[in-house]
Amino acid sequence: MILKTLKSYFGYTSFRPQQEEIIQRILSKQDTLVLMPTGGGKSICYQLPALLMQGTAIVVSPLISLMKDQVEALQANGIPARAINSANDETVNANIRFECQQGRIKLLYISPERLLTETNFLLKDIQISLFAIDEAHCISQWGHDFRPEYTQLKVLRREFPKVPIVALTATADKVTRQDILTQLDMKNPKVFISSFDRPNLSLDVKRGYQQKEKIRTILDFIRRHHGESGIIYCMSRSKTEKVAEMLEEHGITAGVYHAGLSAAAREMAQDDFINDRVQVVCATIAFGMGIDKSNVRWVIHYNLPKSIESFYQEIGRAGRDGLKSDTLLFYSFGDIVLLSKFAQESNQQEINMEKLNRMQQYAESDICRRRILLNYFGENMEHDCGNCDVCRNPPERFDGTIVVQKALSALIRANQQVTMTVLIDILRGAATQEIMSHGYDRLKTYGAGRDIPARDWHDYLLQMLNLGYIEVAYNENNHLKATESGRKILFGKERALLVVIKREDYATKGKRTRKVAQPVPTLTPMQFANESESLFEELRALRKKLADQQAIPAYIVLSDKTLHLLASSKPTTLEAFGEISGIGEYKKERYGKDFVTLIQKFTK
Ligand code: ADP
Ligand code: ZN
Repeated sequence: MILKTLKSYFGYTSFRPQQEEIIQRILSKQDTLVLMPTGGGKSICYQLPALLMQGTAIVVSPLISLMKDQVEALQANGIPARAINSANDETVNANIRFECQQGRIKLLYISPERLLTETNFLLKDIQISLFAIDEAHCISQWGHDFRPEYTQLKVLRREFPKVPIVALTATADKVTRQDILTQLDMKNPKVFISSFDRPNLSLDVKRGYQQKEKIRTILDFIRRHHGESGIIYCMSRSKTEKVAEMLEEHGITAGVYHAGLSAAAREMAQDDFINDRVQVVCATIAFGMGIDKSNVRWVIHYNLPKSIESFYQEIGRAGRDGLKSDTLLFYSFGDIVLLSKFAQESNQQEINMEKLNRMQQYAESDICRRRILLNYFGENMEHDCGNCDVCRNPPERFDGTIVVQKALSALIRANQQVTMTVLIDILRGAATQEIMSHGYDRLKTYGAGRDIPARDWHDYLLQMLNLGYIEVAYNENNHLKATESGRKILFGKERALLVVIKREDYATKGKRTRKVAQPVPTLTPMQFANESESLFEELRALRKKLADQQAIPAYIVLSDKTLHLLASSKPTTLEAFGEISGIGEYKKERYGKDFVTLIQKFTK
């Protein structure tokens, strides 16, 4: 029965781990807490019971954009769902109330403040099947998205003692978990915790890239992701604008999203992205909470994030549909200087510095990066992932004692009064004004590092910083200082092991050569045998046309995964079309003919 409903409404033939157990539990009217990563498949856990139970399920959700997305997705599967909120005009809301009273609505989405005002009105007039509290971590002050209105949801248990409550979140820490259970006053709750691993996200880190090289790498990366949606997170507002401009100059459509824009401009940027009118959004951290776009195929961090939590949340916006997606993190010396400054100036200095350190360790890791991430979240992973740059291309080391000695010797001769940039100029023997005016050109080490390109010096110095051979005096104009362990290397008491720099190699003389080592990520995952790329493109265009006709996002018409499956199995009858994962009865009726006709033409 449950499986049949899963196929006929959602088009899937099997459950993901834990989904079925959770659903059974809700069907037997018991309180439940669900912790699952983004993209884990939380929605079906309450949507399917809502379909099977009598009455209307009330879903509490913190953002109008999230409600809209969910309601559209449900309606696209032929499920009667509505959202009551302040964005509707009141006649629309009145209509929805009427439909609910008549028992015609299976799921009603509602904001927490609205829910509270309706507790004695609408909610008393209708039959309620269950309460689902989405983004339940908003109830906790410990979390990062605290919403005071959520704390009043306690009334639900008191006012509706017989209706089961299910709370769902992707934030797993223990304090938040306990907070949710107590604040919602749940009765004998059962807690379901899924693994937070997202194996479909590749992890890649590039250290010490300078601006130009970053840009080349980004353009190359986006070219490999031709036509696929992605997000670039930047540290500053002005950077988001510059990067977007640069992309536009190269013919890639890009929007900007940051807290300095008006609400209307932000909403438009989000809307353009969701509806594939722009391929890329360049954003500060403020972007993402309000979107459920399932086919974000990649995320780039232009700068180092301030903590592993932020990082994981941001890359988590890619690949919600479970398909292979790529993530890329750049980190540079400048990022560390800036982020340390922010952390020092914050009112939680120690915690924030510690968080930054952990982030830096991740970026600097020479063991499987996914193991570090999962460890950070208290989960033990016992094997290497095979889908991060360290697994694919383990770092090689060499005896870098002489490199370190050159740098330290130059640093000490300049009285440790120089920044990284000036130190590199000294090593390279550059004749800048700063060098000349300080007489650095008369130092014995001036030009001693000419054999190493400046960009490699950046990398080596960053490694030296992470190895603890140098440190940055943030309160002294970011001048570098040699540490005790640095001096041990300088005086030959110990040897230094540095990582060999491997770059995606671009020849310097204008023409670009193919890169070495790194395998180019394939766009189509392996399970899609015989997939035709040109058919996929045609299907994608048809999907966009149908989406625009109904003014809904393309991924709501059919997911990327379903589209790939169509391009590989090429069904030419309505019946075969309906067998594809992600196509339920409603979508079969609604879109079957258009897609089957296209595929028939293609295969002829
Ligand atoms: P979450 O809310 O946990 O971030 P969603 O509920 O949006 O995740 O689900 C993520 C994606 O996985 C959606 O595209 C959804 O349709 C899909 N999905 C969920 N359950 C299944 C399943 N049993 N089989 C196949 N796909 C599923
Ligand atoms: Zn790995």
